[in-house]
Amino acid sequence: MPETRALYQSEPLLWEKEQADHSGTDWHTPSDFKNRTGQTERGIIGLPQVTEPEVIRHFVRLSSWNYSIDNGIFPLGSCTMKHNPRLNEKMARLEGFAHLHPLQPQESVQGALGLMYDLQNWLAELTGLSGVCLTPAAGAHGELAGIMTIRRAHDLNGQSQRKIILVPDSAHGTNPATAVLCGYQTRTIATKDTGIICLKAFEEALTQTTEDGSDIAGMMVTNPNTCGLFETNIMPIVDLLHKAGGYFYCDGANFNALVGKIRPADFGVDVMHLNLHKTFSTPHGGGGPGSGPICVTEHLAPYLPRPLVVKDKETYRLEEEDERDSSLGRLKAFQGQFGMHVRTLAYMLSHGQDGLKQVSEDAVLSANYILSQLKDDYHVPFEGFCMHECLLTDQKQKDKGVSTMDIAKTIVEYGMHPMTVYFPLVVQGAMLIEPTETESKENIDRFIRVMKDIATDTQSGDTAQFHTFPLSAPRRRLDEVKAAREPNLRWRA
Ligand SMILES: *Cc1c(COP(=O)(O)O)cnc(C)c1O
Repeated sequence: MPETRALYQSEPLLWEKEQADHSGTDWHTPSDFKNRTGQTERGIIGLPQVTEPEVIRHFVRLSSWNYSIDNGIFPLGSCTMKHNPRLNEKMARLEGFAHLHPLQPQESVQGALGLMYDLQNWLAELTGLSGVCLTPAAGAHGELAGIMTIRRAHDLNGQSQRKIILVPDSAHGTNPATAVLCGYQTRTIATKDTGIICLKAFEEALTQTTEDGSDIAGMMVTNPNTCGLFETNIMPIVDLLHKAGGYFYCDGANFNALVGKIRPADFGVDVMHLNLHKTFSTPHGGGGPGSGPICVTEHLAPYLPRPLVVKDKETYRLEEEDERDSSLGRLKAFQGQFGMHVRTLAYMLSHGQDGLKQVSEDAVLSANYILSQLKDDYHVPFEGFCMHECLLTDQKQKDKGVSTMDIAKTIVEYGMHPMTVYFPLVVQGAMLIEPTETESKENIDRFIRVMKDIATDTQSGDTAQFHTFPLSAPRRRLDEVKAAREPNLRWRA
C-alpha cells in the first residue's frame, strides 16, 4: 500500500478498516429478542463495522482514483468517450421524468411516452430505418436483439436452414459472441491485408458451403470498421448478400463517424444497433447505464422485440408482444433505460440536424489531424485517410524494446487516459485513437506531444524509463493475465 501523501490518500478495503465497536447506526440489540418467524433466522451478514463518515470518505477517495472524461482527454478507440453535456443531465433530472415509475398507468405518463416516440422517430430519420426498438440496455444487448430479430424473420419465413453469420476478422468480440448465442455458426472473412472487406474474400465466404449462399443467415459488420476505415466495397457486398437471402447487421458503435452525414439504410443496412452512450453523449460505464436501441427496415419491424411506443390518434401507448404474433417477445423488464432516452433526445434537439452533421465532420477531422501529426513517428498499417479514429502500431518502437503496453503506461504517467490497445486483434501491437469532436485542439496537441516524445526518446535509445511507468498512479502495472486466468474474488483467503 503506497503511503498517504498530499491529495493522494491510500485506501484499504472497508473490511480492513472496520473496528468491532464502530457502527453507522445507533440501534441497540433488544435485550428480550425472540425469533417469531419460525425457522428463518438471520445469520451474520458480514457488513463491515464502520461509521458513516468512514463510509463516505472511503467512496469519495476511491472516486478520486478514477480517471474520467471530466478529468481529461479519453481517446479510447471504438468507445467514443465524449463530453456529456450538462444540459442533458438537467433534463434527465426534471421531476416529471426522474420520478416516474415504470408501472404507472400509461395515461399518466403521456409526456414520457411522447418523448420515447420522438426519439424513435429521430433514430429512424438518422438511420433511414423505420422500425425502432428502444429497449436494449447496451450495445451488446442491441446486437442480441438485432440477431434475434433476424433469426425470428428467418424462422417464420421457412428459412431455418440458414445457420451461418459472416463476420470479418476485425470485428468486435461481441459480434461473433452474439451470433453464437443466437444459435448460429460464424464464418470469418479475412481483412488483414487491406483493413477492409474485399469483394472476392466475401464471395468466397458466401459460397463456401453452398453455391447460392442459401445457408447464410446474415453478416455482421461495423462500418466504419474497427481499423478506422470506411468499408468502401459495402454496396456490392450487401447486394450479393441480399441476393443470397441474408440480412446485413451493422454494428453501429462507430456511428459517430456518420451521424447526420449518411443514412446507413442507404448502404443496405437491414438492422443496426446504436450505442446512445457513445454517439449521443449519454454517460458510459461507471457513469451510468448504457442504452443500445436497434433500428430495422420496415420489412423486419414486425419481428422486433416489444414493447414499442405507438401513437393512436393523440394518445401514446406501449404496443406489447401479444398484439403481434410475429414479435420475438420481451427482452427486458420495462421499457429500456429511460433516463438515457431523455439525455439522447436533449442532445439531438440541442444540436439539431446540422449540429449532428458537424459532430461527425469534426470527429473525423480530429482523428485525421492526429494521424497526420503522428504518421512519421509511428507505423500506420493502412494507408489513406481514417474516419473518426486512427490506427497506429508499435512496429517502429518494438525492436527498441518499447511496446504498445509501454506507450499506454507512459501516457498514464503523463496524466492522460491511453488509447485502446491491442485491438483490433488482427493488427499487431494496435493503438486505436479516437479523440472525438469534443476535445479541444490544445488537448489533442498535448496528447500528440507526449506521443512524439515517446517516439523520439525511443529512437535515441532512452527507453529504460518506459518500462517503469506509471510511477505516480495509485496502482502501477497490474498482472492482468494472472487476474484473468486466476480471478481471486475474495478479499480474505
Ligand atoms: C462498444 C462496442 C460494442 C458493445 O457496446 P456496449 O454498449 O459496450 O455493450 C460493440 N461493438 C463495437 C464495435 C463497440 O465499439
